[in-house]
Amino acid sequence: MDPISMAPIVQAQRDFFSTGKTRELAFRRRQLEVLRDAVRGNASRIVRALKEDMGKPAFEAHVAEVSQVTSGIEYTLKSLKSWAGPHRVHTPAYLFLASSRIDPEPVGVALVIGPWNYPMDLVIEPLTGAIAAGNCAVLKPSEVAPATSEVVCSMVRETFDPGFVVAVEGGVKETQALLAEKFDYIFYTGGTVVGRLVMQKAAEQLTPVTLELGGKSPCIVEPDIDLAVTARRITWGKYFNAGQTCIAPDYLLVNSSVKGELLEAIERCKTDFYGDDPKSSPDFTRIVSDKHFERVSALMADGDIVFGGQTDAAERYIAPTLIDNVLPEHKAMQEEIFGPVLPVLTYTYLQEAIDFVRERPKPLSLYAFTRDRDKQARVLAETTSGGACINDTMVHYSNPRLPFGGIGTSGFGRYHGRWSFDTFSNMKAVVNRSFHFDIYLRYPPYKNAQKLAQRLLRYVT
Ligand code: NAD
Repeated sequence: MDPISMAPIVQAQRDFFSTGKTRELAFRRRQLEVLRDAVRGNASRIVRALKEDMGKPAFEAHVAEVSQVTSGIEYTLKSLKSWAGPHRVHTPAYLFLASSRIDPEPVGVALVIGPWNYPMDLVIEPLTGAIAAGNCAVLKPSEVAPATSEVVCSMVRETFDPGFVVAVEGGVKETQALLAEKFDYIFYTGGTVVGRLVMQKAAEQLTPVTLELGGKSPCIVEPDIDLAVTARRITWGKYFNAGQTCIAPDYLLVNSSVKGELLEAIERCKTDFYGDDPKSSPDFTRIVSDKHFERVSALMADGDIVFGGQTDAAERYIAPTLIDNVLPEHKAMQEEIFGPVLPVLTYTYLQEAIDFVRERPKPLSLYAFTRDRDKQARVLAETTSGGACINDTMVHYSNPRLPFGGIGTSGFGRYHGRWSFDTFSNMKAVVNRSFHFDIYLRYPPYKNAQKLAQRLLRYVT
């Protein structure tokens, strides 16, 4: 079969970008409004597609995809003028008769590659930043959620000039063909293995990248908690989207003195949320593909199942599951779970939990439940993670005033709100000087100039 060429698509974007249209703030605003209206107008199609791809409940689809995207756009519209600058900064006295400023300018043509777990949100949120910053963009939604990919691609086709924003449907072959082209920015969300490939391809062209990857986000629980609220927030974070969330609490590190009560409370919450038979609950999502169903099912082999463990391959159903007595060497602790399985490990002193986290790759998120402010501060100061919540799970993602992203193997780069705008901008540093007062000291020959310059700099920086 002939290799696919994405060159014409990218060339059309380059041509559009060179018209200079996207640099106009009014154009960007209009396109953001059009995008917001398109998402709202297509909301029921999107919700249906998400149901088809993974049985996502309508409420979760509305909250985590439709509203997440539209509220992000609204926030961007409100703030765009101030983000777009120019931003004046102080000029040191030795540069007298000058002004200094930062002029954010678009980078050009951006490529956004998305995963399947929030297949609309995770391409449209980066797109919001790309448009706000004045870029053209090529989107590549995940083929693992084919119905949503189809809806996103047709929504984009109906909404934008393809020279400005275009969405490419397809799988690995199409993504690789896109990566063979030269882009000005690549924004990738997905697993670590493909993240490495993306970065290798980007390195060939020296293209800057953001990698939004995954990992194992720990959830530490101390005894000084509100037990009912803690259990509810952990149960919600773990089983929302059937655990297929990059920032889901991956495993519990619980103080042994509260473990028994906490596990009972989580089981009660699970029943309150999904009833006695979660399989028949309209609020519990399915696993996205057979491959992922097999993978997550295999993670339940070790430890003692406290509740759950049932599977149905035909429906790709895995029950909300909690496994006690899990050891670090068990399979569930060797890879990101990305499914509705919660392993539990126990500690006696908080330091053990902190050390456990520190000995492992830096997670995308970290959760700690404790009322004690010193302990809260200790956990935050002694561990590193992309983001964190104290006494909750996952909610930091929803605040557009907070930067979102990973560290180490959970990725790098930040987005959401202002950080999306900055990501897709070239922060051009500009000094504007007058022709007056051209101090001769800086020009060769430097004889006798060094001492004088040092003395001057001491006083005028
Ligand atoms: P995926 O399989 O859908 O892949 C992501 C994208 O990579 C797709 O568009 C796909 O076409 C492309 N791709 C796959 N294989 C490729 C290859 N060999 N060459 C080029 N492109 C290829 O998604 P996934 O990787 O299974 O996503 C799940 C992972 O994403 C989890 O690890 C999760 O934690 C992570 N994730 C991170 C975030 C975040 O914001 N940090 C959000 C969601 C998911």
